[in-house]
Parts: sequence; C-alpha cells; structure tokens
Amino acid sequence: MRYICDFHIHSKYSRATSSQMVLSEIERWCKIKGIDIVGSGDLTHPGWFKELKNNLESDGSGLYTLRGSDKKTKFILTTEISCIYSKKGKTRRLHIIYFVPSLETAEKINKKLDSVGNIKSDGRPILGLDVKDVAKIFWDIDPDCLVIPAHAWTPWFSIFGSFSGFDSIKECYEELSPRIFGIETGLSSDPEMNWRWSELDNITLISNSDAHSPSNLGREANVLEIDSQNLSYAGLVKILKKNDKEKFLYTIEFFPQEGKYHYDGHSRCGVVFSPRESFKNKNLCPKCRKPLTIGVSNRVCRLADRKKIDGKGRVAYRSVIPLQEIIAEVLGKQKNTKTVDNFYFDLIKKGGSEFKILLDLSAAELKKITLPQIATAVEKMKKGEVFVQPGYDGVYGKVSVFNPKEMEKLFPKQEALL
Ligand SMILES: [Zn+2]
Ligand SMILES: [Zn+2]
Ligand SMILES: [Zn+2]
Repeated sequence: MRYICDFHIHSKYSRATSSQMVLSEIERWCKIKGIDIVGSGDLTHPGWFKELKNNLESDGSGLYTLRGSDKKTKFILTTEISCIYSKKGKTRRLHIIYFVPSLETAEKINKKLDSVGNIKSDGRPILGLDVKDVAKIFWDIDPDCLVIPAHAWTPWFSIFGSFSGFDSIKECYEELSPRIFGIETGLSSDPEMNWRWSELDNITLISNSDAHSPSNLGREANVLEIDSQNLSYAGLVKILKKNDKEKFLYTIEFFPQEGKYHYDGHSRCGVVFSPRESFKNKNLCPKCRKPLTIGVSNRVCRLADRKKIDGKGRVAYRSVIPLQEIIAEVLGKQKNTKTVDNFYFDLIKKGGSEFKILLDLSAAELKKITLPQIATAVEKMKKGEVFVQPGYDGVYGKVSVFNPKEMEKLFPKQEALL
C-alpha cells in the first residue's frame, strides 16, 4: 500500500507556531491532505511530550495512533533540535531532525537532554552542543534513533547553509558521518539540485513540510510503498536507510523557487539575485553594500561538482503547488480568504483529499468535480508548465500556472467562476 509520510512538523509549543498545532487538529488535517504517517514533532518539550503520552496509543510497531481516532493516521516520534556552537573558529547553527522508536526511549533522551540544556522553553530547543554530541546522546540511548540534518541548504540554520554550516557531512559529523544516511532537502531545493553533488550520491533525500500551521502539513512529503502488515518504525527506517527506489516511490516537492531561500538577496532592500548576479556583485548588496543573504541555489552551485543530470536509478520526485494556491490563482483571490477556503473544502469533500486531487485524479476525473480551469491548472502543474518568481532572503517565491494572456483567454469573466 502507498503511504504518504510527513516526518517534520511542529506543535503549538514551538516558537511562531499556530495554536492549532494540537494532536486532534493535526490528525484532522492529515485526512484533509491525505497524509498517512505524520511526525509527532517537538518530542523534547515537556508539555507536548505529556500530551503525546496521554493521547497516543502504541500498537507495538513503534508507530502510534491518536486515542479515540479511527487509527488510520499513524504518528511517528520525531523532533528537531537547534544547535549553536563553535567549530574551527566559526559559529555553527544547525537544525537536525531525530526519529525515536518509542515514547519510553524519548523519555530517557529527554531526561539526558534536560541535564545538558534547556529543553523547556521551546518545542525546538536550542542547545549549545556540537550536533555530534547530540547524535551520540540519542544513539547511546537507542541506536535505532535516526539523525537527519533538516532543510540542509537554508542559509542560517543548516548543515550546508551559507552562513553557519559546513561544506560536507564529513566536516560536520567526522567519524560519525557514515551513520548520517539522509538529509532533508528543504523547500528551497529539490532532488535534481541535490543530484548535482556527488557527495550526496548515496544519501537518502527526504522531504517534509516543517509545518508550523495545520494547512501547511504535507506541503512536502515522502511516498513509500509498504506492505500494510509490516507497517512499523523499523520497516520505515529500513526503507529510508536503503534508499530503495522500489519502496521509496517518490518525494512530493515544492517547486524550489517557491521556497524562501531559493535565490540570493536582501528583502529590506528589495534586491533579488541569481547566483550569477551575486557573483558579479561580489555577494554584496548594491543598495546597502552589506553581504547578501546567499540562498540555496547559490550554495548548490558552490558545492556541486556536476551539471544537471537525469534521475536514472534515483528516487523520483513530483513537484506540486498547494491546492489552495491553485484555487486562489484560478479564482483571482488571495489565498487566505473565505472564498478560497470554502472552495477548497468543497473540493476536498468531492475529491477525497488534497493529494488525491493533486497526484491521483486524471484531468477528466477532476473536470467532473470542479471547474475545468482547476483541472487544467493541475495538468499544467503536473507537466511542470509553471511560471516562477524565486523566493529570497526569507520571502516566499511565487509559482503560478497561467500567464496573464492565458488568464484572459481562460477566464474572460472572473466573477462568472463563483
Ligand atoms: Zn528547522
Ligand atoms: Zn522545523
Ligand atoms: Zn541591502
């Protein structure tokens, strides 16, 4: 059976996270989106851990379900820790995701972490430890824990980040690097960009939403083929570790230009640069003369050792645009409006889930349940026929399906759609 998994999310206990990120809402939204397995997030936070302990039930497989639910949505225990430390004369700031096989193991890890740093004030705590030492804490307690660098390319808080990261996994994890089998590619990079660097040839590329609000759940995800009899933490880990493309079917991706750090630039100066333009300007902002925020595309160009390659033999990926954005574009409305919301939930009811609509239904099937323009937009998205305006320096990019001319032709009377 196909399982769609989103391993990295946050609870209401993380900074800048919606108060709606509670278990019942997360579970409800997983159904809306079509997510089968979701990360618990924020395992190290005492408040959230208590909620997990009180409300999740184990079936002994290392996966959990919400008490009182239909048990269809599974939870896997995951958490993110921010480490800020100095290494080789440079300040390093890295976010790392950890997978944990059971609540009992998590409890032991939390006890240990509580003795070395402050895990109480934020769902994604900041520790002044080397990420190697944190990995050792997890692995010493249970070698079945997974350690995966989060959003590996973002400038400020990642393993390859331009400001405070490293130039290789080896430089960061040293003797432990053989145990780092995967990275999270993040919203601003897609697998194709990562394939350009031979260092990552044997590394599993995973994709998660890093959602801070329910409607962002599943904006990136992993699609695995698992025999439902054997659905377990250990089984999942095996597929991820082996990077077996028979079982790891594909990742669901943002168009990377839509991510907040695809290009370089300065948001307050309104400067957006491609890597080439930044190079010409010596990585300085022409307006304020300060260093530009160097984005993901630039870092990939710096570290990659080959040009574009095809995906032969690799886990595939599919680029999507969130359904609410497609609806907003077609209706000519802003994303967070009642009109778009109503349209969205009505379509979800008819289509089953967002992933069914974006990935599974054919154009003909879609036309039966919604406006032909939505069906056309989804078709164009599937073919990658989109217009992009790259994100930079914390500003999301924009991906649209229709250019203004097409819009005029397809939608002569905008109001008529509603
Ligand atoms: Zn992070
Ligand atoms: Zn996160
Ligand atoms: Zn500037």
